[in-house]
Amino acid sequence: MAEMLHGYNYEPEYTDEELELRNSVQAATAELPNFSDWCQCSCCRQMPTPGECVCCRSSDVTVCSLSGLQCITENRRMQTVVLNEDVLLVMYVQMIRDTGKHGRAPDMLDDK
Ligand SMILES: [Zn+2]
Ligand SMILES: [Zn+2]
Repeated sequence: MAEMLHGYNYEPEYTDEELELRNSVQAATAELPNFSDWCQCSCCRQMPTPGECVCCRSSDVTVCSLSGLQCITENRRMQTVVLNEDVLLVMYVQMIRDTGKHGRAPDMLDDK
């Protein structure tokens, strides 16, 4: 059977070295932005590093539509796609199997 192709899956990717360099350069040069400058949804909280100061209203990486909502957390899909424990577990196992980097995926999914 032909292997399924997933275009742009997990791309773009950096090597661990590139990520480390990138993070250290950002941490050394970037100042922590003012909360009111980066959060437009009023649901975020101040984060310790500039790279973490990303609001749902300014990020282009969203899984649900923001139309008509103040914050992405108000979208009903947030509960299902982002906060559901079973979905997170399945995604975790898939990520481990795809990357093969961070340990071994469990053979069975259970509540333990
Ligand atoms: Zn926000
Ligand atoms: Zn938000």
